[in-house]
Amino acid sequence: MVTDADGFPTSDFIKRGHHVKVSGEGSKTIVKNDILMGIWQQGAENGCIPSMINYAYNIGQPHLELPFLLEGAIRGHPFAVSLLLNRCYENSEMPCQLSSLCMYWNKMVKNWVGIEEERYVEFLEGAKEWKNYLYNICNICGEQESDLVTLKTCNGCKLTFYCSKECQTIHWEEGTHKNECNRLKILMKYHEPYANKIREQIMRGDDPKFIIPLQKLRNKLGLTRPRMEYEEYLDKKNLDDPRALLFPRNNGTVYVGSWTEMM
Ligand SMILES: [Zn+2]
Ligand SMILES: [Zn+2]
Repeated sequence: MVTDADGFPTSDFIKRGHHVKVSGEGSKTIVKNDILMGIWQQGAENGCIPSMINYAYNIGQPHLELPFLLEGAIRGHPFAVSLLLNRCYENSEMPCQLSSLCMYWNKMVKNWVGIEEERYVEFLEGAKEWKNYLYNICNICGEQESDLVTLKTCNGCKLTFYCSKECQTIHWEEGTHKNECNRLKILMKYHEPYANKIREQIMRGDDPKFIIPLQKLRNKLGLTRPRMEYEEYLDKKNLDDPRALLFPRNNGTVYVGSWTEMM
């Protein structure tokens, strides 16, 4: 079995992609890119995670990248996670960052690759920043824990801290925490307990269609939503601000599912 640098099986689609990549200039490059994207899309649909990553990386629209990177992340691929965070969750152009989700995924990668793994050192370092932002200070007003102030955590995810009911309500109602917290609840219930087992099965080449906890999780996250429900979002022309689609929906599911629907 041929694997990528992270030990995940690659496929003939990646090999075919390499052949296409070799040449092309000017208008020819565009044609070749179309061919390449087609190959990677097929690879993604066949469960090849390196294809999902290549495909996502080259779409050029974060809200369409997200479902493919999330598919890679829930299958346990650390590079898919790092791209998901980098391009979708902590993108500097985002109106508000999804720090608790970043913490969740960062912890996963640390657990999978260990802090020694050179390729992910920089990524794992990022957790310190989110921690400073999230832990031991009120996530809204910045108040620190003291003799007078006892910080409370969010009951749902236990990842965010608040000095008062008021600050918690602001984060919940006006911020993005309701949506983020609902996503975290899905992950904590349907991903965390099975994460290592799913990853192990994917790495040894099991067919993802028969990994039941993975399919259940995909369903809970909304990745299996029928394409017609979000068809309008697939065309950038219909969108005021595509960045809004990077946030979880109210119930924690994704706006745009795995729109090839074959995954
Ligand atoms: Zn506060
Ligand atoms: Zn929460």
